[in-house]
Amino acid sequence: MIKPPTILTRRSVFRAGTGLAVAAMGTPLLTPASALAEGVRQAGAEPLNGDGFYRFKIGDFQATVISDGYGQIPIRPILAMNASEAELAPVLKANFMQPVIQITNNILVVDTGRERILVDSGFGEKLGPSFGSFPGLEANLGRAGIAPESIDLVVTSHGHLDHIGGLVTKSGALAFPKAQFVFVDTEWNYWTGSRYESEVNSSPMPDGFKKGTIEAARDLPQIASRSRFVKQGGEITSGVHYIAAPGHSPSHATILFASGKEQLMHMGDIAHHPVTSLQRPNWSPIFDYDPAQAIKSRKSILNRVATDRVMAMGYHFPFPGIGHVVRREAAYHWEATPWIW
Ligand SMILES: [Zn+2]
Repeated sequence: MIKPPTILTRRSVFRAGTGLAVAAMGTPLLTPASALAEGVRQAGAEPLNGDGFYRFKIGDFQATVISDGYGQIPIRPILAMNASEAELAPVLKANFMQPVIQITNNILVVDTGRERILVDSGFGEKLGPSFGSFPGLEANLGRAGIAPESIDLVVTSHGHLDHIGGLVTKSGALAFPKAQFVFVDTEWNYWTGSRYESEVNSSPMPDGFKKGTIEAARDLPQIASRSRFVKQGGEITSGVHYIAAPGHSPSHATILFASGKEQLMHMGDIAHHPVTSLQRPNWSPIFDYDPAQAIKSRKSILNRVATDRVMAMGYHFPFPGIGHVVRREAAYHWEATPWIW
């Protein structure tokens, strides 16, 4: 019997070459130029499957998921810091998964008929090489025919690098020049306050991610005068609400869109992967600020969308990340929505 390979080679990890994966594996943050060039060529030379965007409806709302690129990460410890190798191995085998997987950022754009809303802005130019670029949010918005100037509201689920990194460009310009920005008030206060820097630096996050997160938070004062602050659970605009889901960050929130009889729960980062987060909701990603609280929020949101049979979106789930959560005994299962052409 031929055994499937379970370990990616060092080269294949390098080929994907993100600072995130490399740093997390304890390897020096050094990517050979040839491997980097190969990664860039693979990512940029040919069109992505699906051209980097996907349209669907939420009642009368027109929604589009835009890809912000991708990168490779090792499941342990990044998505399951409290799982042992012995606990992880049978889960990977049962789900035909490798120990290093590709992960994405799915950026949601919703046209309500009154305004065009973008939820979370990806890595911007703060991590790379394939996360956030080659091609990232900006290029894929263009492919979908969505001009950055046409975004009216940018809603943020929480203040981590991969969710606010795209608000301000490298040259210091606003990426969405006509938009108003919306944050949970206490989340904004944390990321513009005096505690975040030392807390990020002493967290288990990979070094490249720590640095980028601090850089991204330093951009926030620049958009303060164009920002609006909403209470946890409050209304963002008609048909769009924050739902409190703290723990991943101090005031992390999910975002519920409702139009007619349909709803979509943008789950933010209560769940990072259909297998590790849903089948094992007690596994904690290294990014969780308060892991015990994050587990409570994960189960609460998963329970809600499973019970209410609400369409859900996973920001880091395989593109486009739209589907339904089904309860399975003490855990959950992801039913991805079939791709509609
Ligand atoms: Zn995230």
